[in-house]
Amino acid sequence: MIHSALQALRAGHVFDGARIKGRPGMVLVEDGVIRDVDVTGAPPPQHATVTDFGPDGWLLPGLIDAHVHLCWDAGPDAVAHVASGDRDTVLKTARASAATALQTGITTVRDLGDRDYLTLELRDLVPPTERPEIVAAGPPITTRGGHCHFLGGETEGADALRAAVRERAERGCDVVKVMASGGNLTPGSSPLQQQYGRSDLRLVVAEAHRLGLTAAAHVHAAEAIGDVIAAGFDTIEHFTFFTAEGVGLRPELLDEVVRRGIVVSLTLGFVPGSAPPPPAVAARVEAMGDLGAKVVASGARIVAGTDAGIEPSKPHDVLPYALSQLSRLGMPTLDVLRSATAVAAEAVGLGGRKGVLRPGADADLLVLGSSPVDDISAVTDVRAVYRAGHRVR
Ligand SMILES: [Zn+2]
Repeated sequence: MIHSALQALRAGHVFDGARIKGRPGMVLVEDGVIRDVDVTGAPPPQHATVTDFGPDGWLLPGLIDAHVHLCWDAGPDAVAHVASGDRDTVLKTARASAATALQTGITTVRDLGDRDYLTLELRDLVPPTERPEIVAAGPPITTRGGHCHFLGGETEGADALRAAVRERAERGCDVVKVMASGGNLTPGSSPLQQQYGRSDLRLVVAEAHRLGLTAAAHVHAAEAIGDVIAAGFDTIEHFTFFTAEGVGLRPELLDEVVRRGIVVSLTLGFVPGSAPPPPAVAARVEAMGDLGAKVVASGARIVAGTDAGIEPSKPHDVLPYALSQLSRLGMPTLDVLRSATAVAAEAVGLGGRKGVLRPGADADLLVLGSSPVDDISAVTDVRAVYRAGHRVR
């Protein structure tokens, strides 16, 4: 536990992860935890250290990026860096990525693909106040020579798949990531290829759940999305419905995702003006926009999940662009804020502890200077960031 004196953070507005609370607001923080959220206008306790962010200030939970790759440097050759860099170099990258995210106001990340379990090493090595909370998958489970095989997670066959899940649990991972289809970044891999059959996917999810881990599936191929849903994955990454012709939404599968409450991680967000995405994505950009709008309109539980790190358009502070994109896809700004806080916390298995301003929750906070409800881009108008009760920006 991080011991610290009682602090009272005050601002004109409070968003608690679900709704806007009455104003003005005060959040009491002690020992890294939120003690109280007061919106009655009561004066701060006498012994508290008071920080007042003024009538235009907004207090909200720190943001959550539900799909990042800390070991990836977002450089022009990010694959080569993560695949062939020596451990110390890649660990240094992960440390820098984590610091960048934290300074952006991202206080929790779910890492869905490291190399050699380096994010676990990072979590042990770097104190909480110098990095976001890290929910870690370790190396993604993939087929021999399959998508991101260079991260070290090649596994095929029922026994080996069960053993791979157990290994991740024993090492301290929180989530198992499976490449259910090929991807765009791996030479020789196609996003249209299915990588595992339904029974393999089922047993991975069952083993993960048995051991208390959640399960996330990377999937582009329309063909594989039905299998992923049937297998019971907690979150579906990308959800792009790629077909040979382009993008082919299957409405009945989207309905099923909504019905089951599966979280869709759309891997949105890119820095405008950066180099174009891989050809398979570039050819489908417009269709993916239409698809995204339909997913938003469906009422599915959505997180932006940026895929930060994989290419220059996705640096580790890209989340604000993803939130703007969600808003442009038709999601009301209040829902965008929920998606990046309370909804994302549930998606990454930290519901109630992260993504909310509530007594007992971790004191990870973002303070803005203007209203993110009026304009979601206000998430870049950062006045302060708190991690475990410590002001880190
Ligand atoms: Zn990814």
